[in-house]
Order: sequence, then structure tokens, then C-alpha cells
Amino acid sequence: MKIENYIRDIQGFPKEGILFKDITPLLNDPIARQECLSVLVNSLKDQKIDKVVGAESRGFFFGILLAQELNAGFIPVRKPKKLPYETIAASYELEYGTDSLEMHTDAIKKGDRILIHDDVLATGGTAKAVCELVERLGGEIVQCNFLMELSFLNGREKINEYPIFSAITY
Ligand code: 5GP
Repeated sequence: MKIENYIRDIQGFPKEGILFKDITPLLNDPIARQECLSVLVNSLKDQKIDKVVGAESRGFFFGILLAQELNAGFIPVRKPKKLPYETIAASYELEYGTDSLEMHTDAIKKGDRILIHDDVLATGGTAKAVCELVERLGGEIVQCNFLMELSFLNGREKINEYPIFSAITY
């Protein structure tokens, strides 16, 4: 079973010049999905995780599966003004301009052992902002994991102080 076979390339999405990695075939196949989940869980080597943090929106899919499998909480990190309770925010750079991500202030207790998950590690801006939110609330980052890493974009360098695992590297 090759997880790669369930990720398809879409040329020109969301705009011209971008080759988008589409994970919907992986979501739509229960065996491939389970295999991918096992690969991510096994990379933790039985380290205890209190909470999984998933980045909007594709980080929610496997984020919640990971939380269930690890018997951990799940924390959504969302785009501005989506979360209903009190939030903290961290901004990150886009190709043009900046954007920000938010997390509920009561989501993490000091010393909680945190797994950060997103579908793709590209430039690393998103992951770095999520790490900043977790640390500001006193969480201890055990690992940042991704379904795939676009290594030619060097996102790893932005979060190199944390353990990183990617199921697939391109
Ligand atoms: P970064 O902040 O590392 O540049 O970008 C990562 C974020 O952009 C992730 O939240 C991810 O969902 C999204 N992303 C960037 N490129 C792709 C892609 O090719 N496929 C998918 N599925 N998501 C992408």
C-alpha cells in the first residue's frame, strides 16, 4: 500500500503556476486512510500526547483521527474570527502580505504535551504560527507531523527546533 497513490496532483490550483497536492482520494479510501494514520501514530514511538492541534482546515481531518487514536484532546487552530471564545493570535507571512491564526486561550494547560498536525508542510509559515500559539499557552511541542512535506520549499528550517515527521516527502 503506497499512500502516495492516494494523493493526486492538480495543476493550476488554487491559482496558475501552483501544483496542488490533493488529499481527497486518501480521505475517501478507508484502507489507505488507516495506513496513513498508522504511519503517523507509529512515528511517535509511544510518546504520550495530551492534545493534538490541527491547523485549519485540512489539518482537521487527520488531526481528529490522531486525537481519537491517541486518546488525546483535539484543538482547532482557525483563521481569524472563526472561534467563538476568547482567542490569542499569531501572524505569518504569505507570498503577498500576512495572515493570522487563532486558538482559544483555554485550549492548553501549562505543560500539556502537544502534537501539531497539518496536511502539508510547504514554506513552514503556518506551522511556525501554530507552534508560537502553543508555546504562548505553555504547551510542550512533542512533534509536528504532516501527511506530506514539500521539501524544496524548506519549511523545515522555520520549525527546526522541534521534532518533525512527514509521512511522504516530495
Ligand atoms: P505553508 O504555510 O507551509 O507555506 O503552507 C502550508 C499550508 O498550506 C497548509 O495548511 C496546507 O493545507 C496548505 N497547502 C499548501 N500547499 C498545499 C498543497 O499542495 N496541497 C494541500 N493539500 N495543501 C497545501
